Amino acid sequence: MKNYQLSAKDLAAFFEKVLSNNLRLIAPIKVKQNESQNVTKLKNKAHILFREIPSKDDLKNIVIDAYTDMSAKEIFFPRSEPVIEYTNKKSGVVIKDIDPQAKETVLFGARPCDAFGFSLLERLFSWDYDDPFFLKRREKTTVISLGCTSPLESCFCTSVGLSPMNTEGSDILFTPMSNNNNDKEDRYLVEVITPRGEKLIESIIGISSDLKNIFTEGNSLVQAKAAFENKVKEQMKRKEDFKDITEILKYKFDDSQLESETYRCLGCGVCSMVCPTCHCFDIVDEGEASHGYRMKNWDSCSFALFTKHGGGHNPRDMQFKRCRQRYMHKLHYYREKFADALCVGCGRCVKACPVNLDIYSVVYNLKKAYANNKNKEDKEK
Ligand code: SF4
Ligand code: SF4
Repeated sequence: MKNYQLSAKDLAAFFEKVLSNNLRLIAPIKVKQNESQNVTKLKNKAHILFREIPSKDDLKNIVIDAYTDMSAKEIFFPRSEPVIEYTNKKSGVVIKDIDPQAKETVLFGARPCDAFGFSLLERLFSWDYDDPFFLKRREKTTVISLGCTSPLESCFCTSVGLSPMNTEGSDILFTPMSNNNNDKEDRYLVEVITPRGEKLIESIIGISSDLKNIFTEGNSLVQAKAAFENKVKEQMKRKEDFKDITEILKYKFDDSQLESETYRCLGCGVCSMVCPTCHCFDIVDEGEASHGYRMKNWDSCSFALFTKHGGGHNPRDMQFKRCRQRYMHKLHYYREKFADALCVGCGRCVKACPVNLDIYSVVYNLKKAYANNKNKEDKEK
């Protein structure tokens, strides 16, 4: 696949061509609290969220250098959507399938961790059943990710085996770079990762002689990328390696440490809502006897009702058990089935939790306690 170089000042020209090619463009913008679907109860706070950019006049609202509060998973997996429609007629009940109405879309500005999250969700939604709602949207969407050059304190992608400029899950990766590693980044290395990405770039560049001039050869930047990527990784504050945590969690399942670490969880579910990889949903019928819809709504294993049975029994009858389930699913169960952890280290749940429950710190503490115990046992042998 080809690599290009694009000057930062020419990014808007690229977006204009995307729009004039009748593609739906989605990118991060700043959304004031009353316009967003609330993530927290904080007043007067603006959130950075993925939204459709309807026209050229709206391109100025795209936020390039910030991190979004919500992931872009809702582009493929909306928080609520109808899956069938029913109508009760005299002749009987008519059931109609809902078409997901996937439009050709360019999603710009997902971070490499988010893009890897799409690949984790795709494995799940095409595993024992092909979910047409997720898969049709994914197929129609070209993901252009934005490499990270200033990780946040809450980021820990390298702990789960990723990197700030990871490519899996992206169709194209734009990495902000400079001519010299010490200068301010003023250009993008544009790496085309998949045939879908190649199709987009070739069709967009093909329609415009202007773009042929601004997308120039990028191989020299590819060589500089490795050193730059290492420099960014060095800036990360959280870099404990979590690859052995699966074994530790098996050992810690009934350990009181996991209970005490997670005891303060309120069960609000915010961590699942902001997470790029949480994918639990509930199916509910909304409507009247004559007409209505079967809806697929986001759900969370942190909610007390999630596992409550019709007879009243709840196998996860305490909040710490629900929290433990979330960690076990992310770092043990999913990994056993699909090889990777179901956490991409984006740190959103760390920032959003109202009681500062921090998955990185919990795992870090479990690891340390496990290592200390093991040392003690080895000495006693
Ligand atoms: S860990 Fe935090 S965000 Fe998640 S359910 Fe518990 S209190 Fe809410
Ligand atoms: S569990 Fe937290 S850090 Fe991991 S992917 Fe989900 S929101 Fe990000």
